[in-house]
Formats: sequence, structure tokens, C-alpha cells
Amino acid sequence: MITTDTCPNCLERDVTPTASRRRGPHLAHGYCCPACGHQWAVGRLATAYPNQNRTHTRKAA
Ligand SMILES: [Zn+2]
Repeated sequence: MITTDTCPNCLERDVTPTASRRRGPHLAHGYCCPACGHQWAVGRLATAYPNQNRTHTRKAA
């Protein structure tokens, strides 16, 4: 799955991630804007992606 983002610096759209990192339930994507060279990272909960949800555990309240 490719998750594109918008550059927070120059608002270039559909920037593709250059790196992804998984840390527990969190998935972080690193971006480098092709237009201005700005770099940023976005962290997302892996639970947002059903196909990558296999390690998710849920405890009953
Ligand atoms: Zn940019």
C-alpha cells in the first residue's frame, strides 16, 4: 500500500514515502518532497490498515 501525503512546506501533493518504519502498533512513514526537498515523517496507527492488522490484539474491558 502506498500512502501519499502533502508536503507541509510547499503543499506539493501526492508525495510518496521514502521509508516506512513499524514500531508496535504504530507505522511511521518518512517523506522527502521532490519539489522543495523538505523532509518529514508521519506516524499512523497500523490498525488503520486492515491488511496489516494481524498482530493486533484486543482485550475485553
Ligand atoms: Zn515541498
